[in-house]
Amino acid sequence: MVAEQDADVLVVGAGPAGATAAYYLAQAGLDVLVLEKTSFPREKVCGDGLTPRAVHSLVAMGVPTEEKDGWIRNKGLRVIGGGRTLELPWPDLASWPDYGLVRPRLDFDETLIRHAEKAGARLRERTTVTGPVLDERTDRVVGVEARTPAGPVTFRAPLVLAADGVSGRLALSLGIAKRDDRPMGVAVRRYYTSPRTADDFLESWLELWDVKPDGSRILMPGYGWIFGVGDGTSNVGLGILNSSTAYGSTDYRSLLSSWLGGLPEEWQFTEEHAVGPVRGGGLPMGFNRTPHYSRGLLLAGDSAGAVNPFNGEGIAYAMETGKLAAEHVAQALARPAGPGRERALAAYPMALKAEYGGYYRLGGIFVKLIGNPHIMKLATQHGLPRPLLMKFVLKLMANLTDPRGGDALDRVITAMTRLAPAV
Ligand SMILES: Cc1cc2nc3c(=O)[nH]c(=O)nc-3n(C[C@H](O)[C@H](O)[C@H](O)COP(=O)(O)OP(=O)(O)OC[C@H]3O[C@@H](n4cnc5c(N)ncnc54)[C@H](O)[C@@H]3O)c2cc1C
Repeated sequence: MVAEQDADVLVVGAGPAGATAAYYLAQAGLDVLVLEKTSFPREKVCGDGLTPRAVHSLVAMGVPTEEKDGWIRNKGLRVIGGGRTLELPWPDLASWPDYGLVRPRLDFDETLIRHAEKAGARLRERTTVTGPVLDERTDRVVGVEARTPAGPVTFRAPLVLAADGVSGRLALSLGIAKRDDRPMGVAVRRYYTSPRTADDFLESWLELWDVKPDGSRILMPGYGWIFGVGDGTSNVGLGILNSSTAYGSTDYRSLLSSWLGGLPEEWQFTEEHAVGPVRGGGLPMGFNRTPHYSRGLLLAGDSAGAVNPFNGEGIAYAMETGKLAAEHVAQALARPAGPGRERALAAYPMALKAEYGGYYRLGGIFVKLIGNPHIMKLATQHGLPRPLLMKFVLKLMANLTDPRGGDALDRVITAMTRLAPAV
């Protein structure tokens, strides 16, 4: 008899990476057990914005995204900077849908994990993984230790997927640390009741000025967002990259309030209309934690540092890396333990590199460039008046191109990402 705490695969964390991986693992007929420290519904600090890339992953999994179920659709990105406003519709492509969504993570994450459960995945909530179980002979991960309301429990499986988010604790416990040569961001957000709640564009503000005590101002590399949630509130926040000299010395909450203070009063981004506190978190970008597979442990989503450095989007990449990890685990477990299985697992980091390596290399260069306030200023002032350039920028930053049969812009982006040496 198989013990309840044993499985073919353990997935640590039930965010978008873990839930997506669990769905595909269950679909492949594997016994997958997801361990989650919180219980649903639970909040996750986020902008709640989904680009067409994330929609694509939801559609592939068969998650219903009807507006009657609380999903609000958007047609594109509205960019504000250099005294201009530009509405850029999502590109019309064969590979990606032409709409995005907004959905609070409070129910987005629960929807995804329930979908995985329906496919056959098992979920254990209020189960905090505290460390790996290592095989004494091979030094491989063969399970995890966890704290549960009933006391400590040991879970066992031949493979473990770390989908535990930005802290990457499980990877860290195997010595897989965050890489400081890759980009990182910080973001803060707050909900407000606002007449802008039904906005059908995602809105991004490119000019965030950090005012220093001596009165000097620095244009920060990043953007502020206003995303209508459709339930009477807007999710408003900002994200800043670590490439600026002001990174670390910036008070993100006061940056948020000074930016909001300059917005029209009728939008109601004021204390009296705030719902809940300002909350923030890190954005691990451009694969800032590697290797993505080692000794029986795979990493996906934020724990793999998979956030897109161009735009701070993490949900789509969590779902995509979760799916890729699941596919490699399924192939590996179809082989006997040994060198053949290891070969199948070693293909996972290679697949990540092939899919995102060149693009993330370009993202790293982009992050460094806009860390210079002069370049950031040039980009906002001279980019926005050029619609074709902005169309290109949208495709590049949101990673939305047709790799085959696209237009000239798609071909340029595909060539650039192929030529860039993969990270
Ligand atoms: C302020 C802010 C705004 C953002 N806005 C956007 C946005 O608008 N769009 C977008 O695409 N991305 C956005 N992101 C990024 C996005 O939130 C993340 O990239 C995404 O949540 C990553 O998914 P994940 O599944 O890898 O990790 P998470 O969503 O962090 O999920 C990890 C899960 O693991 C669980 N866990 C952690 N430790 C343990 C443990 N020891 N044991 C068991 N379980 C554990 C957690 O409780 C959690 O459920 C934003 C991030 C921030 C901070």
